[in-house]
Amino acid sequence: MILESFAVGPLACNCTLLADEQTREAIVIDPGDEVGRIHRRLTELDLKLKQILITHAHIDHVGGALKLKQLTGAPIFLNQNDLPLLKLMDAQAAWLGVDAPQTAPPDVSLTDGMIVGLDRVPAQVLHTPGHTQGSVCLHFAPIKLLVAGDTLFAGSIGRTDLPGGDFNQIIDSLHSRLLTLPDETRVLPGHGPATTIGEERQSNPFLQKH
Ligand SMILES: [Zn+2]
Repeated sequence: MILESFAVGPLACNCTLLADEQTREAIVIDPGDEVGRIHRRLTELDLKLKQILITHAHIDHVGGALKLKQLTGAPIFLNQNDLPLLKLMDAQAAWLGVDAPQTAPPDVSLTDGMIVGLDRVPAQVLHTPGHTQGSVCLHFAPIKLLVAGDTLFAGSIGRTDLPGGDFNQIIDSLHSRLLTLPDETRVLPGHGPATTIGEERQSNPFLQKH
């Protein structure tokens, strides 16, 4: 299995590439920017892109999705509750002072409980609203990996002060959906360093019993 995670764009969104060495099938999660680099990596590794998975519709996570789709033909997956945010792309770009990327509605809605990913390394979709209404995490149980988007960070959690954000909701999502995962689950957050569920359960100030 090939697993690469690297920061893209001015907000350093962690983009994740997961692939099966035998079938050469790949998925890319959160191609927020630097699509040329992502596409080059797929070509270098001789991979065929199967799915473009988006954890939520903030510009730094979804910004390159359509371009990557146009280059590879792979479908875009995004939870439908983030469609209003997708339509706010011009406003999102203005907040950052960058040009708005072209976007298109997703090909498939990432709904709770859905199985996506690779045949030999599937992921279950966990709908974890709070950072945005359509935020999801992807749980790859066979490799004990959670791709968390902006729901959970090492030592912190996603902000809830942007449109569609709700603090009580993200806390509920974290407790009911993420803290129920095994401690040894490795977490790749949407920004910053990797962590584990156990580490965050123990020391994340937002996840302590109250
Ligand atoms: Zn975000």
